Amino acid sequence: MYIDGQWLSDGPSFPVYNPATGEHLGDVLDGTREHAASAIAAADKAMKEWAAKSAYERSALLYKAHELMMAQRPALAELMTQEQGKPLKASLNEVKYAADFLLWFAEEAKRVYGETIPSARSDQRFLVHKQPVGVVAAVTPWNYPISMLTRKLAPALAAGCTVVLKPAESTPLCAKAVFQILHEAGVPAGVANMVTASDPKPIGEEFCTNQLVRKLTFTGSTAVGKHLAQAAAPQLKRVSMELGGHAPFIVFDDADPVHAAKGVSLVKFLNTGQACISPNRIFVQRSILEPFLETLAARVGKLLAGNGMDPANAIGPLINEAAISKVDRQVRDALDKGATLHTGGSRLTDNGLDKGCFYGATLISNVAPDMLIYREETFGPVAAVVPFDDEDDVVAMANDTDYGLAAYIYTQNLSRAMRTFEQLNFGIIGINDINPTSAAAPFGGMKESGLGREGAREGIDEYLETKLGGFSI
Ligand code: ADP
Repeated sequence: MYIDGQWLSDGPSFPVYNPATGEHLGDVLDGTREHAASAIAAADKAMKEWAAKSAYERSALLYKAHELMMAQRPALAELMTQEQGKPLKASLNEVKYAADFLLWFAEEAKRVYGETIPSARSDQRFLVHKQPVGVVAAVTPWNYPISMLTRKLAPALAAGCTVVLKPAESTPLCAKAVFQILHEAGVPAGVANMVTASDPKPIGEEFCTNQLVRKLTFTGSTAVGKHLAQAAAPQLKRVSMELGGHAPFIVFDDADPVHAAKGVSLVKFLNTGQACISPNRIFVQRSILEPFLETLAARVGKLLAGNGMDPANAIGPLINEAAISKVDRQVRDALDKGATLHTGGSRLTDNGLDKGCFYGATLISNVAPDMLIYREETFGPVAAVVPFDDEDDVVAMANDTDYGLAAYIYTQNLSRAMRTFEQLNFGIIGINDINPTSAAAPFGGMKESGLGREGAREGIDEYLETKLGGFSI
């Protein structure tokens, strides 16, 4: 744990394991509610001085952190693959993406502009001023164990806020590495604090009820997000929520089915499907279903699962046993209700995979609305294909979900692309594009996928208050 510029080392701890091998990677301190309270007090104490620094000084620290993170990219990626499981190449990409947020918000720190507004009274002036919202409590998930931290820490620090972060219990070593970088970059004591814990509940309680915390930012499941938003409501704390998704991937018959199938095989199996923007329902127009499925089945069948340290493996393990059970339950349910299995469909235990949480890359088709996978987020390596007949139907089916994070459209028809883009109720839409994410672009969901946006110009606004001055002159 890192509180008030100090690394704590004494006290009860909990173990961290490699999900590919079961190997014990290390132990981290098991923080309590009292630790959370003392970290919040440290953040509150540091707030005034940090907010008073010039944007250029805060920016310089973020530039330094960016430089350090890029210099340590290979080592951080290796740690990530061991702790979280994704293939090394994907870890290298994630570290770059994480560093991008440090760079982007080092730049944005200097662009927190206010405004003057003309008044109807000639003796009055309006001045709109932006100031940091205050102490921020942040909770992050395990699936992107470095970039989800910098996506919150960088804008908060750029805006002049101080932060207490609780990382996911499966990936605290990656979080520790990020805080080592902030420490080395010279972030002052108390400005960024980290509390690790095996039980997130008491820490979450403190985050939501401590009066000193003015803003709560969370990335994780919709269930936990709703719980935290409710717990933060009595004090009307500001909240940002990046929650679950159930992305539709729509392939119209004017798209090249082979190109679209390649796109699906790349984006669906990224991070073993453990991403909130992972396609969960792949809608394919019936006239091109056959060539699409043929290409997709061939590609999915070739995706090797195994330890992410071996470059031959395209798919790493799932994070834990519970994740395997959930994926398997959805697959069994779909097959029982009439879905067709093309490839995969079971846990992998041969070739030394028995110690890890491996599930074979799976393709099922004929998926229908009565199946669990049609509504529940899968968070695993299962591509579920649903046939459709016309544009209006597919838009209605795609929108028929409580989630509203990402969606994908494949079409060569410009009018159709624009129409569908406008009608889909999702915050991030890829049009013939499987990676509509960047530190420069706003990321976030509609409906039960969340509140607020991260990254982009919007990302720093989440950490700013608007203050109006009305001056009589
Ligand atoms: P997942 O199901 O993907 O693990 P969670 O929403 O459970 O997603 O976890 C995301 C983050 O939320 C993790 O850091 C986890 O420790 C944290 N978390 C889970 N439950 C709570 C809670 N009651 N209070 C605070 N944080 C929580």
